[in-house]
Amino acid sequence: MLLKDKVFIITGASSGIGAAAAGLFARNGAAVVLGARRERELAAVAAAITASGGRAAILAGDVTDPGYAEALVEQAQSRFGGLDGAFNNAGRLGSGRMVADTPPEEWADVLATNLTSACLAARAQLPALVARGGGSLIFTGSFIGHTATLPGMGSYAASKAGLVGLVQAIAVEYGVRGIRANALLPGGTMTAMAGEAATNPGAASFIANLHALKRIARPEEIANAALFLASGLASFVTGTAMLADGGNSISKV
Ligand code: NAP
Repeated sequence: MLLKDKVFIITGASSGIGAAAAGLFARNGAAVVLGARRERELAAVAAAITASGGRAAILAGDVTDPGYAEALVEQAQSRFGGLDGAFNNAGRLGSGRMVADTPPEEWADVLATNLTSACLAARAQLPALVARGGGSLIFTGSFIGHTATLPGMGSYAASKAGLVGLVQAIAVEYGVRGIRANALLPGGTMTAMAGEAATNPGAASFIANLHALKRIARPEEIANAALFLASGLASFVTGTAMLADGGNSISKV
């Protein structure tokens, strides 16, 4: 029960890493407010939590909308009495085109979804955490844009790299108020986003081989790292970009 009586927002909770974190945070005692665009999928994740005796609320919306970030915080306060932290995890890939072929609209939407959304979330969440006397914010970055990248990932890499700078700014501005902020950088993880890797054995084995552990993570393994950062176990951890990458960053064979 690492998050007993805590209240957490989790975005990108309709699938993958966010859905795994929703269940894990709830099993550890947190009330969770779950966000993403697909309402039916969010409802299914929440139903599984409440069926096991946990506490969950959902609010469907788009993380690029400033009003949505505020509404998630209001939901946490009205349903569960406050906010202790957030796992700001929603994200999207680009289309895989090279930098010179990337349409400006695609660049703008990837940056809006992965990076500007993080600032909007922090703007809404930080006053609630200050009111609570502290808390923990976690943002899902990637090994892409930090320790490595792949061709066709320009906008994705830039957006995820930007998150690390935002986290450092929040950490130095709000540490004195008891608020920690960290980026969590997963390696390849078996989710819808892993896309082709999940269905094509050739691509799956190529991606698995990028990692020292020679496999792709299960979403639950990344959720475990998020739980650590969210909890008191990480009480002296702030401003970091924490890899949970299966040794992807140090593997050259
Ligand atoms: P996923 O299953 O596709 O999850 C992506 C989540 O983001 C979904 O819940 C999606 O929900 C939500 N989302 C996307 N755009 C959104 C928007 N505009 N507004 C609200 N929600 C939005 O993939 P995942 O792997 O779990 O991804 C979670 C995070 O991990 C992402 O930030 C991703 O960049 C990062 N990551 C993944 C990997 C990997 O190999 N899978 C590696 C490193 C980092 P809706 O579609 O319902 O809106």
